[in-house]
Amino acid sequence: MNQLIEDAKALDALLNATKNQGLDYLTNINDRSTSVSVTAAENGVLAEAGVGAKEALNLFNQRFEPIMVASSGPRFWGFVTGGSTPASIVGDWLATVYDQNTQGVTGHGDVSANIEVETISLLLDLFGLPKSFLGGFVTGATMSNFTCLAVARQWLGKCYNKDFAKEGITEKINVLSATPHSSAIKSLSLLGIGSGNVIKVNAMDDREAISITDLEQQIEKLNGQPFILISSGGTVNTVDFDDFTAIKQLKQKYNFWWHIDAAFGGFAACSTDYAHLLKDWEYADSITIDNHKWLNVPYESAVFLVKEEHKVLQTETFQNSNAPYLGDPMENFSYLNFLPENSRRLKALPAWFTLTAYGKEGYRAIVDNCITLAHYFQEKLENSDQFMMLAPVILNNLCFTIKDDNQDVSTFLADLNKSGKVFMTPTFYNGRKGIRASFVNWRTTTADVDLVFDVMVNLLAR
Ligand SMILES: *Cc1c(COP(=O)(O)O)cnc(C)c1O
Repeated sequence: MNQLIEDAKALDALLNATKNQGLDYLTNINDRSTSVSVTAAENGVLAEAGVGAKEALNLFNQRFEPIMVASSGPRFWGFVTGGSTPASIVGDWLATVYDQNTQGVTGHGDVSANIEVETISLLLDLFGLPKSFLGGFVTGATMSNFTCLAVARQWLGKCYNKDFAKEGITEKINVLSATPHSSAIKSLSLLGIGSGNVIKVNAMDDREAISITDLEQQIEKLNGQPFILISSGGTVNTVDFDDFTAIKQLKQKYNFWWHIDAAFGGFAACSTDYAHLLKDWEYADSITIDNHKWLNVPYESAVFLVKEEHKVLQTETFQNSNAPYLGDPMENFSYLNFLPENSRRLKALPAWFTLTAYGKEGYRAIVDNCITLAHYFQEKLENSDQFMMLAPVILNNLCFTIKDDNQDVSTFLADLNKSGKVFMTPTFYNGRKGIRASFVNWRTTTADVDLVFDVMVNLLAR
């Protein structure tokens, strides 16, 4: 217990050391490696006596700090990896320091739920969405898809006068989708709908977007049964968008819950030239947005947006119904009865800080810069003798490969990542092995693209 008291006394020195270390990392992030090779994890053994925070920091610095990769740096293009803006780091640190428990029973408790509600409103403004959406913060787009689809499940039950949240699933749940993200499928398995129960709708020729003709044929086959449609507001490979105007028209004709997974594609709404990709998305019942991607806030941050008209379904799904001390979930708005987790950190604070600090203009610049860089990289690849695109760039991702069939793409990518200058991830598109690059970090510049391209060319010339 002595260590704890000593640490509390030395807090000033501890936090200053942490600040300086963080500053050092962030200042030198361009030079830090984007990958390391790690061996299998060691089995930790907990000592009887602790060493105190200062010595713990020393141990961390010996063992782990040197192998932390620059995942929030300018050349981490694997998956869809965001970064962290200065303001978001401030918000994230303060969320830890203040350590509020965001539940917010109106009238008592603390202000954190109000900050969350306010931040959702800022995000709706950023995306040009109406205030008829209610939302909340979850850990990532996976949990956002889960939350939205859980409400969709409850909606579908009501079509049969059933309360699935209470009674369990007693009817067949039809889910239609063309190119769903793996996390949406995972959500179906968590929700007891079954990951194998998706009715696969064809994508358009040479596209990942849904074929509206095939969609309508699949709907007709359901003979009027209600269903859930999972549509894409940016697929992960080519960032293809379903035709939301056409889906909106189908919604006037058929009875379904319309979910859009717009984890990062939703940020096209910030851009002047690409916002049209999302035209009519506001007619959806629910939308998934990932903040730790293009909003450039630290992990873990995403939001779900569900139409206010579905508030009762939402609360029926997520209420703590056997806890009278938490109040009547139907009367008092409380995040406790509105999303999967009960106790959680003030996840909205980093987003509140960054939105307040940079505004619409700041995000337009970040998003436009990433899109420009994706096209710049595409141009360099297309003009080269060594590389070719597997699909044209739609927004901020590239799928490309090596022209020469005799070169093994996986080996090339492994060597490229080993260089530590860039990190990209493999893909398979149009029957060919390829490489994916995703631009979502505010730090990236044309100089980064030039640097990576040179490394790639040199690697192939070996
Ligand atoms: C990244 C992503 C997800 C999953 O997001 P996590 O933050 O990893 O949970 C879901 N859908 C799409 C389209 C994505 O790009």
